[in-house]
Amino acid sequence: MSKAGPGRNDRRRFLAGLGASAVSALAGNRLARAAARENAMEPAGKSFDVAVIGAGVFGAWIAWHLQRAGQRVVLVDKYGPANARASSGGDTRVIRMAYGPSGIYTRMSQRSLAMWKQFFARIERPELFRPTGVLWMAGADGAAARQSVVELEAAGVRHEVLATEALARRYPQIAVPPGGWAIYEPDSGGLMARRAVQAVVDDAVRAGVRFQVDAVEPLRGEGRLGAIRTASGASISARSYVYACGPWLGSMLPEVLGGRIFPTRQEIYYFGVPAGERRFDAATMPIWMDFDGSYYGFGDLDARGFKLANDAHGPAIDPDSADRAPTRAGIEHAAQFLAKRFPALAGAPMVAAEVCQYENTSNGDFVIDRHPGYDNVWIVGGGSGHGFKHGPAVGEHVAARMLDGAAVEPRFALAAKRDAQQREVH
Ligand SMILES: Cc1cc2nc3c(=O)[nH]c(=O)nc-3n(C[C@H](O)[C@H](O)[C@H](O)COP(=O)(O)OP(=O)(O)OC[C@H]3O[C@@H](n4cnc5c(N)ncnc54)[C@H](O)[C@@H]3O)c2cc1C
Repeated sequence: MSKAGPGRNDRRRFLAGLGASAVSALAGNRLARAAARENAMEPAGKSFDVAVIGAGVFGAWIAWHLQRAGQRVVLVDKYGPANARASSGGDTRVIRMAYGPSGIYTRMSQRSLAMWKQFFARIERPELFRPTGVLWMAGADGAAARQSVVELEAAGVRHEVLATEALARRYPQIAVPPGGWAIYEPDSGGLMARRAVQAVVDDAVRAGVRFQVDAVEPLRGEGRLGAIRTASGASISARSYVYACGPWLGSMLPEVLGGRIFPTRQEIYYFGVPAGERRFDAATMPIWMDFDGSYYGFGDLDARGFKLANDAHGPAIDPDSADRAPTRAGIEHAAQFLAKRFPALAGAPMVAAEVCQYENTSNGDFVIDRHPGYDNVWIVGGGSGHGFKHGPAVGEHVAARMLDGAAVEPRFALAAKRDAQQREVH
């Protein structure tokens, strides 16, 4: 080996000598990326049953389920699993069951929570789910919250309804407005998002899924897709393809989804709690959603700070090139909200931030459907700011459609989506 480090052939031999599990255990670090790049340079012509493009939460779980069902799967991502630009790349995501009148999501979330927990138990990483409980706070006229109660009861989800006084008594750190009430889900909580997706990919690779870092070229036209080409010049052929590219779906499938997936810039802030203060700790303060739905957040988890996210859609964003520094206006707006709702945190400093993007459809429903021009291509995405929790159930749902011919859910059909850019954003 020269002082300059291993040559390409040495490196290829070294990487080939690593078992799949050794390579997967390294996923996310430099060596795993190198391994993935070397894999991408394998001679064209190696064929798979399914090629999944995008290793966010949806692509990761789709690959996982397809492999479990006996498929030979290749999973390709241009930056790596749950990377910092991906919608799944954040620290934490909420998993809750209350979904207003949309019982379909309540049931998917219920199924997903069971699968997440089972998965984390099997890989001996239970810390990737934090059962903090979730508190959906509603105003006096909270119609969606009332409908949630009906759906939670129908689905048998454990929950408690807290009237104004009970809410204020149990959580004195919250300034409860007149008529405010809440639904408390004791079994729901937070998923350690980025690490959870990376664990799913690692597990899939250990079981035989091939993972590659490479950028797949956009798809146009129609017919039967024989192979996809990548930026490195590789060609990957499979019987079927799944495009699970999150906010990139519009640019990857411009003729089909150009206007129907609209990525918006979203900021998340972590505020430092006063020294010695325990009332805002995640063990005391559940994940919460505010009375008018504008903000939601987490108690201080792993000493990262009190998390606050503005759920209102931000401006359009390019997920490849966006500047990910938070805006002064956003921080000030969040700080004002914090002082109003959690008065003991007035003046708390912002100690960390994340900038991510929602990949919105016109009605917030997912897209899980066949490509209208290619009968061996599936499109999966449109998480619209609430998709993460559903990863395991979405993977299972997609595998059932691809392998067993289960019918497309009308609510997830492409035909049910309009041009998402016409949606009002601010
Ligand atoms: C700030 C914020 C807060 C959120 N909070 C919650 C929450 O609390 N609970 C919840 O359930 N959901 C939440 N969501 C939504 C959730 O995170 C997303 O819906 C979900 O992560 C989308 O996953 P995905 O796999 O579709 O997309 P992504 O995670 O974006 O993955 C897509 C992948 O495709 C890859 N890719 C793109 N183009 C190519 C190409 N040409 N070739 C190869 N690979 C490519 C990308 O690199 C990326 O890794 C939140 C989202 C944001 C932004």
